[in-house]
Amino acid sequence: MKNNFNDMGISPLVLKAIEEMGFEEPTEVQRKAIPHILNQEDLIVMSKTGSGKTAVFGVSLLQMIDPGVAGPQGLILTPTRELAVQVDSDLKQMSKHLPHKTTAVYGQHNMNIEIQTLKKGVSIVTGTPGRVHDHICHRNLETKHIRFLVLDEADRMLDMGFLDQVVRIIKSLPKERVTLLFSATIPTEIHKICREYMKHPVTIEIESQTMTVDAIKQVYYRVKHNEKNLQLNRLLRVEQPESCMIFCNTRVTVDRVQSFLSRKGYVSHALHGDIPQGRRLKTIQQFKQGEIPLLVATDVAARGIHIDGLSLVINYDVLWIKTAMCIESGVPAEPERKVVPSPWLQVMTS
Ligand code: AMP
Repeated sequence: MKNNFNDMGISPLVLKAIEEMGFEEPTEVQRKAIPHILNQEDLIVMSKTGSGKTAVFGVSLLQMIDPGVAGPQGLILTPTRELAVQVDSDLKQMSKHLPHKTTAVYGQHNMNIEIQTLKKGVSIVTGTPGRVHDHICHRNLETKHIRFLVLDEADRMLDMGFLDQVVRIIKSLPKERVTLLFSATIPTEIHKICREYMKHPVTIEIESQTMTVDAIKQVYYRVKHNEKNLQLNRLLRVEQPESCMIFCNTRVTVDRVQSFLSRKGYVSHALHGDIPQGRRLKTIQQFKQGEIPLLVATDVAARGIHIDGLSLVINYDVLWIKTAMCIESGVPAEPERKVVPSPWLQVMTS
């Protein structure tokens, strides 16, 4: 196995960009997966978010794409709009010394702007299945040169009901291509896709997460249901976190908790599927930049979003334990699966 980026045969201009991004050593998934992709093999990668998987396909695709070809050569499908934007923004950083153009397409985004960008010519398109399918049907997105297909967070796309659209997209692509599938788990439906649409895929399973469990203190507070907000307020007063995410199960709870926090004088924003796309992206950006200290969110809205320097994660509805585990912020890969009856408030601090 190659232990550094230099030995992997990554081009100097991509290397320069990832060095500037602060990537010194490849992560486990990068060490194991990139050589297979550069060898044009289909790949199933079972790893959780936070393992460095974006760079696995980002670095490889940028390396293998021919800047002389007009039209997209790489297509990346993601379950959420936020993830599409984040992946595209990572690709832009990785390709900053290259001529390649990349773009993100996703629901609720201005269709005309997307069409104009696609017309100007892009090498890699990242998008949510619905919008990508739309562009393909309207011939805004040409598929004939696509040589790389990435299904990112495939299990999540299944959960969100996108599988039919994913299959329709796959059927519209050239058969001669490399298909890369990333998924934390491989349920039967995903297995079927792998069997039908991938060629002798190599499977790589990454057990560990990049962050260590030791660095995280986890606390459970047992509180009465109607005292959750009181306890939340106390906690925030005691912890005074610079940056804190509060996860709730439903959009309604997110709104309720957020208005409670506002009434108490905290600067906080809500993030969930009912909030218009533009505002959601702005909120994530502001939160990442430290302009908003508290973000109250549903899992769907925040999954896979990487936020540096998060000091406190609160699971307001603890039965949604998986949520926090999916957000990389120093949160352990495997939760201590204590069965905790509701109403509990789970808190993690680092
Ligand atoms: P991902 O799983 O792709 O969302 O990546 C999680 C985080 O790890 C992102 O902030 C990446 O920028 C960062 N990352 C990915 N690969 C490396 C690496 N080799 N060295 C340092 N950080 C990395």
